[in-house]
Amino acid sequence: MAGKKDVFDIVSEKFDRRWKRDELIVDAERFKTYDEVFDHQNLEIIYRLMTRGHIKVLECPISTGKEANVYKAKTEDGFAAVKIFRTSTSTFRSFTDYIDGDRRFNRIDRSHRGIIYTWARKEFINLDVMRNNRIRVPSPRIVMKNILVMDYISYEGAPAPQLRILKATDDEWASMWKWVLKTVKALFEKCELVHADLSEYNILYDGKPILIDAGQAVHITHPSARQFLERDMRIISHFFEKKGIENASEKASDLVSKLMPEKKD
Ligand code: ADP
Ligand code: MN
Repeated sequence: MAGKKDVFDIVSEKFDRRWKRDELIVDAERFKTYDEVFDHQNLEIIYRLMTRGHIKVLECPISTGKEANVYKAKTEDGFAAVKIFRTSTSTFRSFTDYIDGDRRFNRIDRSHRGIIYTWARKEFINLDVMRNNRIRVPSPRIVMKNILVMDYISYEGAPAPQLRILKATDDEWASMWKWVLKTVKALFEKCELVHADLSEYNILYDGKPILIDAGQAVHITHPSARQFLERDMRIISHFFEKKGIENASEKASDLVSKLMPEKKD
């Protein structure tokens, strides 16, 4: 019988082993996050992920954010990234801006937890559509309630860096900028999606650029789709302008008006 305490014990035992080995990265701040994220319910899901063979053990945190924490996990034959959405977040209200109006999600459980679960499922579905249309994204593996498992993206033996901190040559930036334009176009035309949080934080580099963080991506019929697309292109072109791409913002607005021509009245 797997009583409540058993689940906690089994999982926390696995954590403790890791922590002892990795003393250098143990600090009070991280434990604070651990306490918050590894509540009973999350531990139960993690335990299920383990017993069903999706992961073997959670390793270190890769990122601790406002809405989600991302962990590296060991699997039977490699690694996975595990994104745990906070169920105790206070910013969850704005989630509905990206769910309401997306026709794929018009009948959902509107409780606090229900919205978070929908958000995680939305990220899974968005990544799946993108992957099926050959957009470079981490392949989603499984979503259980507020926990999403996907491919772990690494570069030179470490978690893949965000473009924000990447060092690259002018030529490399130029070709990454081309990739951004191509990717946004394919996202729109093939996947019928607008990413809606595109920035140098949400593109990683594993030898090539790869897009992440798709929970907020909306269907192109969403009433704010154009506004989100404009904002995405403004933010990302600004970054590439700083990297020396001179006509980035022009190219960005060209793409926006090509994909979503403004209605003349
Ligand atoms: P949020 O921005 O909502 O916290 P993200 O999905 O952007 O969530 O993930 C946060 C950070 O975690 C990313 O910027 C990246 O550094 C890291 N990360 C996310 N997914 C992966 C992954 N599949 N492989 C490696 N690192 C990842
Ligand atoms: Mn992000």
